[in-house]
Amino acid sequence: MRTVTIVGASLAGLYAARELRAQGYDGRLVVVGDEPHPPYDRPPLSKDFLTGRTDEDRLALTDPEETAELDAEWLLGVRARGLDTRTRTVLLADGRTLTTDGLVIATGATARRLPGAPADVHTLRTLEDARALRARLTEGPRRVVVIGGGFIGAETAASCAALGHDVTVIEAAPLPLLPQLGPEMAAVCATLHHRGGVRLRTGTGVTSLRRTGSATAVELADGHTLTADIVITGIGAVPNTAWLADSTLALGDGVLCDEGCATALPQVVAVGDVAHAGGTRAEHWTSATEQPRVAVTNLLAGRTVATSRPVLYFWSDQYGSRIQFAGRYRAGDTVRVTEGELLDEGPGETGFLARYERGGHTVAVLAVDRPRPFTRARRELGRTAATATR
Ligand SMILES: Cc1cc2nc3c(=O)[nH]c(=O)nc-3n(C[C@H](O)[C@H](O)[C@H](O)COP(=O)(O)OP(=O)(O)OC[C@H]3O[C@@H](n4cnc5c(N)ncnc54)[C@H](O)[C@@H]3O)c2cc1C
Repeated sequence: MRTVTIVGASLAGLYAARELRAQGYDGRLVVVGDEPHPPYDRPPLSKDFLTGRTDEDRLALTDPEETAELDAEWLLGVRARGLDTRTRTVLLADGRTLTTDGLVIATGATARRLPGAPADVHTLRTLEDARALRARLTEGPRRVVVIGGGFIGAETAASCAALGHDVTVIEAAPLPLLPQLGPEMAAVCATLHHRGGVRLRTGTGVTSLRRTGSATAVELADGHTLTADIVITGIGAVPNTAWLADSTLALGDGVLCDEGCATALPQVVAVGDVAHAGGTRAEHWTSATEQPRVAVTNLLAGRTVATSRPVLYFWSDQYGSRIQFAGRYRAGDTVRVTEGELLDEGPGETGFLARYERGGHTVAVLAVDRPRPFTRARRELGRTAATATR
């Protein structure tokens, strides 16, 4: 194979480049990214970067020494606009074309916007988004409304509260993070908002956003209207597959691929937030860093020779607490706190570990501020999953 192209120059794209070299690929390597920046880390954007505890120079995922070692051509600030699968050509928005033998699709996802929202409503996905929001948040105390109580919404709300703003979170479901964590642990996350001094309005959606002078009227389905100086939406992300619409690749909620991240086209694989691998699409840092290993193995082999069904893992930092979760919750799972303390008003001072059980087996674990027991429980879960799939 003479040329491999990676489209998407972020976390999963960088890990794919590393894997290609680590697995012995010594041909031409091209990395295309529509952002002007070399790969940077997104998790701090809603956390320490927003509060000013981390600066831009700490976000870099690589350095000049590694870049030199990878020996790749980085085409940054240019979007891939199409893929001709017949000739294996990536079409770039600036008119250039790249004919390639192997292709890694690592184009991630874009923050979903509320239709018709005023232009100054913030989302948080890119460094530019975070810079713009951070600048607004340093203008003095403001009324902030965060639409969406998922991970990005909750973390952003916590960061805004830490900066002294008056914060309200609107969540359409009865509890934040309900689909991911189930009712018991979602209720714990609600207590974190309350403790952090953030108002949480659940069970109601936003019907419209209207400019009123320098503020925004946030109209809710329950008939109430909130006035906000700053509105932030955290309502999910959409996989970046539009550029592949005219290709022959199977698309759905992401690029559809098998458990080895391979598409139906030999030597074309997808990794990270854009990959719908083996029936699942994850938007987690760890998945984006783990998938490239099997994906690259399969790309270099030209067919699926390796698969992986890792136990899903993510973390989230909210109101000074670290939440860690591994596995998958399903409605009906029994949740038991097995270490530490969970009080009515939220986690006790030393945090807690909870196990999700189904049919007598642990299928997921969650910890709040209990990193060591969590790591052990996660490892156990990984061993059990490996045995079950053998
Ligand atoms: C604010 C924030 C906080 C987060 N916090 C956590 C956390 O605490 N824990 C956790 O587990 N995960 C967290 N995540 C999720 C994690 O960052 C993502 O899972 C990870 O970034 C996915 O990496 P990726 O490379 O697949 O996609 P992305 O990081 O989205 O990168 C895709 C890249 O491809 C580029 N691209 C898109 N289309 C094209 C095109 N047509 N041509 C060229 N380039 C293109 C994009 O601009 C982008 O640079 C967070 C995400 C965000 C946004």
